[in-house]
Amino acid sequence: MIATVKKSNARSSKIPVQGMMENVMEQFYSAADYIDLNNNIRKILAITNNEIVVKFPVRMDNGEVEIFTGYRVQHNNALGPYKGGLRYHPTVDIDAARALAMWMTWKTSLAGLPYGGAKGGIKLNPKLYSKNELERITRRFTYALADNIGPEHDIPAPDVNTNSQTMAWMSDTYMSTRPPAERSANQHVVTGKPAGSGGLEGRDRATGYGVFLTVKLQLEKRGETLEGKRFIVQGFGNVGYWAAHFMENEGAKMVAVQDAQTTLENQDGISVADLFQYTQSNANAIANFIPANEIATEDFFGVDCEVCIPAALGNQITQENADKIKAFVIAEGANGPTNGDAEKILENRGVTIIPDILCNSGGVTASYFEWLQNRNGELWQLDEVMEKLTKKLTESFEKVYKYSQEESISMRKAAFCIAIKRIEMAYTQRGIFP
Ligand code: NAD
Repeated sequence: MIATVKKSNARSSKIPVQGMMENVMEQFYSAADYIDLNNNIRKILAITNNEIVVKFPVRMDNGEVEIFTGYRVQHNNALGPYKGGLRYHPTVDIDAARALAMWMTWKTSLAGLPYGGAKGGIKLNPKLYSKNELERITRRFTYALADNIGPEHDIPAPDVNTNSQTMAWMSDTYMSTRPPAERSANQHVVTGKPAGSGGLEGRDRATGYGVFLTVKLQLEKRGETLEGKRFIVQGFGNVGYWAAHFMENEGAKMVAVQDAQTTLENQDGISVADLFQYTQSNANAIANFIPANEIATEDFFGVDCEVCIPAALGNQITQENADKIKAFVIAEGANGPTNGDAEKILENRGVTIIPDILCNSGGVTASYFEWLQNRNGELWQLDEVMEKLTKKLTESFEKVYKYSQEESISMRKAAFCIAIKRIEMAYTQRGIFP
């Protein structure tokens, strides 16, 4: 007999996901108008190719069965297999997956990778489940997605609340469902795996490193360095931590940090290394870390600093707080953290936004390296990875910066124009079947 659900996924959240779709569409149309995008291609890029919603049962530790809803939205694959992360969060729904999938298409195109864009996840609060339950949920989700993913078709990766462990479970499940002789050839069905299981050395830090590098390059254009610069970070997870780590190494000072529960400030500086070590024995949370003062959630974006790094969720910088921001550079570690209204306010104030599709593209670029490594049966060294990553990200940054300067447009619009033009060219060369 199937018992009643023991836990509720419903949890109040302060994250407004509504509007992410409006945000990405506004960004797309604005760039499409600017480059006078072919109308037929515009129609194709304005919709998502496939939207997969799966409902699947999982047995909980207490023997009861719970039903979960998982999503995978495949936006476009004109340039190659679909690529994008999987998120475990109460705010995951079809709209969020659609918006995030579209951003992936622009990101992979801008980075010059042979990929399209996808995104997905499961609507749940992972904190409510044990590690064993999360493993069964992940394996059952992978099984439910079945042939909708694949190493040459759609390649997931980690995102919010998923990590290398999640990817190890996914690849193992996917490979186990293939015929024995094909199993090893399917290891690159996901990227972001642990280094011992087909993962890439350095994939863990790649996104945060890219955030740091693009800030450094942006400051260089102003004739400045990171030495002594104060920065604030929203989200102290994979992206936030590694971005802060590299910023600190280069002489910058973290003066405020926020996670889902707590906001901390200290104008004398919060040690990134000490805070990270503290979170390892505090359930990954920053709460009660000393020396720092806890401040109100809504005061975070108003903290005095030069660089602001949103590295949590979408729609965090809005018309409500854009005026309060003191930073002159915003580096979008998260996807879609700034909404359209906020962007206009910030642009008028002369604040530079390093757009998400450029700023956090280190992750998907390293994922591409991992995919190549698996496909070719190679093992790359960390220094080799970081060197290749630096080269690729610098090229992308310079391309966007140059276009934005030549056209006197924002870095975001420049990045979108470059990304869309590359896809337009692929469609123009190939035509549309039949
Ligand atoms: P993560 O799960 O490792 O960390 C998320 C962090 O954000 C945690 O510290 C969490 O407490 C915090 N957070 C959650 N809700 C919050 C809220 N409402 N206010 C403040 N903090 C909050 O996730 P991640 O992999 O670091 O991803 C962060 C962002 O970066 C996401 O937008 C993701 O899409 C984007 N991103 C991640 C990667 C990657 O490689 N992991 C690549 C590109 C973009």
